[in-house]
Amino acid sequence: MNKTRLAIIWLAIAGSVLGGCGNENSTPPAATSPAITAPAASSSPKDTVPPAQGKPSTTPATDPNSQAAGTGASSGNQAGSNASTNSGSTGKGSGSEPAPTPVTAPPKGAAIQVVAKPESIAALVNKQNALPASYEPQDLVYPNVAFTFSEKLDKRKMRKEAATALEALFEGAKKDGISLAGVSAYRSYATQKTLYNNYVKQDGEEKARTYSAMPGHSEHETGLSIDVSGSNGKCAAQNCFAATKESAWLDAHASEYGFIIRYPKGKEAITGYQYEPWHLRYLGTQLSKEITEKGVTLEEYFNAVPVNK
Ligand SMILES: [Zn+2]
Repeated sequence: MNKTRLAIIWLAIAGSVLGGCGNENSTPPAATSPAITAPAASSSPKDTVPPAQGKPSTTPATDPNSQAAGTGASSGNQAGSNASTNSGSTGKGSGSEPAPTPVTAPPKGAAIQVVAKPESIAALVNKQNALPASYEPQDLVYPNVAFTFSEKLDKRKMRKEAATALEALFEGAKKDGISLAGVSAYRSYATQKTLYNNYVKQDGEEKARTYSAMPGHSEHETGLSIDVSGSNGKCAAQNCFAATKESAWLDAHASEYGFIIRYPKGKEAITGYQYEPWHLRYLGTQLSKEITEKGVTLEEYFNAVPVNK
């Protein structure tokens, strides 16, 4: 327990980016803002699960990966990987989204912790907690579910346990007449770094931070998160997804399969990210159900950040 905290390394990095999903697009999101204002000092896990801390990811307010819809699900083999190169297209999609809730970016220089146990299923990755640069999940697989693109890219990958749960979730949705598709799941530290650096070159560091997560801070790097849309790809990673039946289904049933809506509406100041009804985080059913029933965020559950109410 306390060991975890003691092991935490404090870095004086400033970073806060927005968006929890971090797209790979190049279009800056509408100005969003990360929320947390104070560095999470120590987190105190509440139950037994030590939070491993991690970091947040980037994402423009609207995820650009919105195109293609459900195509094939592939599973299995290895395939290409390049996350850094693909990306969505720019611009698509941001048009109709509601303005993101303004959040406050963490102050520059805010202390950032490096997650002590990045492999923990309960690892807390957000703007204050970053995954080590060297961390790479060892059990990534291709979930056998449909994605909005047909290529076998690394962004289809998820850690084994999460992948199996995702397959069950998609199956459950199907039985209820809801057809889902994955949009973007795993993203490596290197990919995130490349993306972030490209944004910095393009818009300067200050601006880049407003819509892209710094490497190590994207929850997608855990291999436990995925952005989901309807199989038609409509509103994929965009605010308009909130009004879809797929979003309503996820809201009502994701926890039954071990997932939570990681960046809930109304919790922007706590999570540091605007509402992202499409971003699912795997935590296992015990945790996901408890968190969902309590109506709290992962940060609140672990008392990881000062909650401003
Ligand atoms: Zn996401």
